[in-house]
Amino acid sequence: MAHINELYGSLVFNDHVMQERLPKMIYKTLSQTIKVGKPLDLDVANAVAHAMKEWAIELGATHYTHWFQPLTGITSEKHDSFITPQADGRALMSFSGRELIKGEPDASSFPSGGLRASFEARGYTTWDPTSYAFIKDNVLCIPTAFVSYGGEALDKKTPLLRSMDAIDREAKRVLALFGKTPAKTSTTVGAEQEYFLIKEEDYSERLDLILTGRTLFGTAPCKGQELEEHYFGAIRPTVNRFMEELDGELWKLGIPAKTKHNEVAPSQHELAPIYETTNIAIDANLITMELMRKLASRHGLVCLQHEKPFIGVNGNGKHNNWSINADGVNLLDPGSTPFDNLQFLVFLTAVIKAVDEYQGLLRMSVASDSNDHRLGACEAPPAIISIYLGDELEAVVRAIINSEHYSSGNERIMNLGVPTLPTFIKDNTDRNRTSPFAFTGNKFEFRMPGAQANLSDANTVINTIVAKALADFADALKGSTNFAQDAKAYMRQTLTDHQRIIFNGDNLSKEWPIEAEKRSLLNLKSTPEALPQIIEPKSIELFERFGVLSRVEIESRYEVKLENYSKKVNIEGLVTARMTRARFVPAIAEYSTVIANSIASKKEVSATLNTAAEEKLLEQLSAGMNTISACVETLEDALEHASSIEDSLANACAYRNEVLPAMDAVRTAVDEMEILVGHEYWPVPTYNHILFYT
Ligand code: ADP
Ligand code: MG
Repeated sequence: MAHINELYGSLVFNDHVMQERLPKMIYKTLSQTIKVGKPLDLDVANAVAHAMKEWAIELGATHYTHWFQPLTGITSEKHDSFITPQADGRALMSFSGRELIKGEPDASSFPSGGLRASFEARGYTTWDPTSYAFIKDNVLCIPTAFVSYGGEALDKKTPLLRSMDAIDREAKRVLALFGKTPAKTSTTVGAEQEYFLIKEEDYSERLDLILTGRTLFGTAPCKGQELEEHYFGAIRPTVNRFMEELDGELWKLGIPAKTKHNEVAPSQHELAPIYETTNIAIDANLITMELMRKLASRHGLVCLQHEKPFIGVNGNGKHNNWSINADGVNLLDPGSTPFDNLQFLVFLTAVIKAVDEYQGLLRMSVASDSNDHRLGACEAPPAIISIYLGDELEAVVRAIINSEHYSSGNERIMNLGVPTLPTFIKDNTDRNRTSPFAFTGNKFEFRMPGAQANLSDANTVINTIVAKALADFADALKGSTNFAQDAKAYMRQTLTDHQRIIFNGDNLSKEWPIEAEKRSLLNLKSTPEALPQIIEPKSIELFERFGVLSRVEIESRYEVKLENYSKKVNIEGLVTARMTRARFVPAIAEYSTVIANSIASKKEVSATLNTAAEEKLLEQLSAGMNTISACVETLEDALEHASSIEDSLANACAYRNEVLPAMDAVRTAVDEMEILVGHEYWPVPTYNHILFYT
């Protein structure tokens, strides 16, 4: 690998390149746009476009694309070459400011939830100058927002940027009360991405993995994760080569990949980058996911990012570490004496209030068919939202509520009793891996998002609800003559009202859902239960008030999410039925014949030979076939019924309540046969084989 400092960011039109290549005045104006959000005019865009094109061509680019994030959640691109044919038969390479700022992809083939009538196909993409352009596969990629002809957001980035703007405004109002006037406040995100790597040859044998991203059949492996040896274990050489290549490619794109390790489940891994401003971190995460999938195939591997590719072992999450800073200073840093840090406490209180008031919306933001298999299954976290603060902050909150004083203990020096081992200061929070929303030292870690998710949805919600809580504080304290005292009184009241959301215990215990119900916390177990939260009057009012989403935009998103859920489960149902009929039933039949022949030929040799074992097996196989056949018929009926329902919510509920249980029944019946049928007769690679390759 070339020198990493030469490699790093070499495919990005970043600040360094801009400074080098743009005329001074142009650079200054663009910097103002990037740093404090000033609008950009066409002259500047023309100059930037020219420099960008020259730079991209030098690096081998022939095309450019407006890179955007439609409501499917994945990224989209349409490549246009720089070529402009000339009258004399030659061609110039050109790229104008207008082309940089605005694109016009046909919007009709992207989901819009009824926002765009099919006759009104026009959509626009607009440059997001705050996220750097980059080169991927010889294409200059320009991060953009995607809107309809009428200006409604058709993507995930637009509302995210609006929410960042909203929280910036409200955070500044709060900071002004502390006598501070930062140029900009920004939210930051560090996204920890989990994934599985399996062998391509196993993958290609399984229609379920190919079409749905998860195994719809398979008994748990004989050995799972119970030996706890995989987490942080030594990394397989093949996987290591993949990770090395991935790091190199990410670094070229200026994506600060930092940590990589084996995860809890066999064949599971994680990559964590260093955090960045939210929209940049999300763009980077989407590129990371794409590169992971692409590079795996160069190593004979397939990267699975589904939330639950295998039952019986952990699934894939994407922890969303979140904080907010003012001109780079972290506002969630408690310092060494949090009780005396009024500004920190005000921001902490705002987050607690926000998460409690809008639990439903937060849960909604991570709801998907695939994440349903993770939330509430026996791995962190459950579907109930709560906040973990850790011992010290919980004591601080308690002291505020009870109007008591709290003093932080002496510095928490860790002395290991071995003179050669250095002493160090402990963090003021321990880890609680089971909490969905945990304070982890100087940031919150939202652990509910699924590995496949585009984190824009979750962060749009977090930013907006915290903006609202900050606005409430700023409104209440406006004109206060005794700020410190009034702020404390406000916090005491707010924390008293919202303390039910704080839970430091084990979120996976049997007692927690019962306790949560006593506290009237929401427990929205599945996507069809969670999605209607977005159209609650309270949610619409919130999004409209902060200019993040309009009512029609919200309604369209609701439709798209419901539709997406139903379509995904429908595909899974069809694959379940198809694999059963086309692969498992013939395999079981074939093996039954083998056993039947064995009985017959033994009897031919001697009528007194005991064939009881074979006969019992044959009976089990026959009974299994009958059960499977009945279950598949029930599934097919359920699929037919669900797909005939027009209303989107009723449709999704039918998939949830009828199709999924019918799929489970088929799976159970087939899985029971897997352990009876001879290995070479079973038509697909099993968990033992897939998860424990060398
Ligand atoms: P762990 O989750 O194991 O405690 P770290 O604390 O090192 O690991 O960080 C996990 C992720 O949180 C990393 O991506 C890191 O960059 C990110 N992170 C750290 N500080 C912040 C912050 N202020 N805002 C957002 N993310 C952060
Ligand atoms: Mg973490």
